[in-house]
Amino acid sequence: MSDISTCVTEVREAFAKGLTKPSKWRKSQLKALDRLLVENEQAITGALRDDLGKHPSEAYTTEISIVRGEISNTLSHLGRWLAPKPVKPSIAVLPANAYTILEPLGVALIIAPWNYPVQLLLGPLVGAIAAGNSVILKPSELAPRTSTLIATLVPRYLDTRAIRVVEGAVEETTALLEEKFDHIFYTGNGRVARIVMAAAAKNLTPVTLELGGKSPTYVDETADLDAVAKRLAWGKFVNAGQTCVAPDYVLASESIAQELASKVSAAITAMYGTNVQSNDQYGRIVNENHFDRLVGLMDESAGNGAVAHGGSSSRGDLFIEPTVLLGTQRTAPVMGQEIFGPILPIIPVYSVDDAIDFINAGDKPLALYVFTNRKDVRQRFLRDTSSGALGFGLPVAHLAIPDLPFGGVGESGMGAYHGKRSIEIFSHEKSVVSKPMVPDTMALVYPPFSPKKLGIVRRLLG
Ligand code: NAD
Repeated sequence: MSDISTCVTEVREAFAKGLTKPSKWRKSQLKALDRLLVENEQAITGALRDDLGKHPSEAYTTEISIVRGEISNTLSHLGRWLAPKPVKPSIAVLPANAYTILEPLGVALIIAPWNYPVQLLLGPLVGAIAAGNSVILKPSELAPRTSTLIATLVPRYLDTRAIRVVEGAVEETTALLEEKFDHIFYTGNGRVARIVMAAAAKNLTPVTLELGGKSPTYVDETADLDAVAKRLAWGKFVNAGQTCVAPDYVLASESIAQELASKVSAAITAMYGTNVQSNDQYGRIVNENHFDRLVGLMDESAGNGAVAHGGSSSRGDLFIEPTVLLGTQRTAPVMGQEIFGPILPIIPVYSVDDAIDFINAGDKPLALYVFTNRKDVRQRFLRDTSSGALGFGLPVAHLAIPDLPFGGVGESGMGAYHGKRSIEIFSHEKSVVSKPMVPDTMALVYPPFSPKKLGIVRRLLG
């Protein structure tokens, strides 16, 4: 894989020569990236349709507009974010001036998954460019049309001396990981994250790991179930459930579980109609492997819980109907892994404690959603659970608020990005101090020591 090695060497040379550091370069690249998205919207939504059956409106809202939002937010604040941050110097070194500045790390590697193949590749790119790095982009081979399109468009719009795309699968990513990077930003599953982190450890390369897992939802009897059902149906079935922050399952108060299932069912019909397979606004499963896994989960779990909605599928079309399972056993196969598809188990719980204990017995989630009107219940979730994000009354959409850090904790990831955070993760915050040579107040701490000097130091420093 000598071409991969050459590619990394070339972008490193561009960084070393200072190409990527001027704010003019950074801004011009961000504007060019925006133009790439605007001028090729049709081609991009077409590729997303081919790879995932995404409707162009959904592709725009959940992919293109998110990256464009990051670009415009970054361009409007870049000057302020990059300005030196003054720090109050301690009395021990006065007179002096202290501040921090963000400096680019060098060469960043961004490895993206297939489910939002534009947003999750180009979103982090915004931060890496804005921070002044060279970048290697590695799109997912499981969204091949999008990967090829991005590999074609990037050299047409961006500065190839510093920004390159390396396409490929495990072999190519393995070769990339043998190279030295200054930051690796990986989005995907925990198994590969461990491979990435082990490779990074060899060079002490910092990593950001954006992972997944089961994101629970809690609904109690005080919530407006009609409104909850609509938000759940949207958050779960967008991109056919293949969203890292989709509500994975619902823990519903026993008294309302059945009613909630019927209302989610009604919301699905209102959004996608009765013949979902022929509705082009509903997406497809990415490939046969995931299709078989999901149908297997559905079949194995259906015996443990009634199918309250959906349940049909068609392998030839990679279609799985939005499905709601009611009364699923807590030990059912569908509860043993991240579902990452359009199956929503609703599990009755007997109290807030029951729900919190169940959630805390699993890995720390990427997101946790709570629907309740009770302040004390909200407080319990805030205080007694840990997750990348906590949404009261709103699933998924926290990722569209650029100033909220987006990332996981524990098994759901490490590090967070979006907005200013995206620049910070691709930067080093350098401490700078500047002290005039006269007066030489440091003389107080130079040897030879004396009781008089020590007395003054004690009075000054306490
Ligand atoms: P994937 O299969 O596309 O893999 C992601 C990347 O890892 C790809 O670029 C792929 O080439 C590379 N890769 C795969 N195997 C590798 C190996 N052995 N060595 C080196 N690189 C390898 O995507 P995926 O992992 O199936 O993605 C789904 C997971 O990602 C889910 O768990 C989901 O929750 C999570 N996810 C998280 C976020 C987030 O922002 N936190 C977003 C989307 C998806």
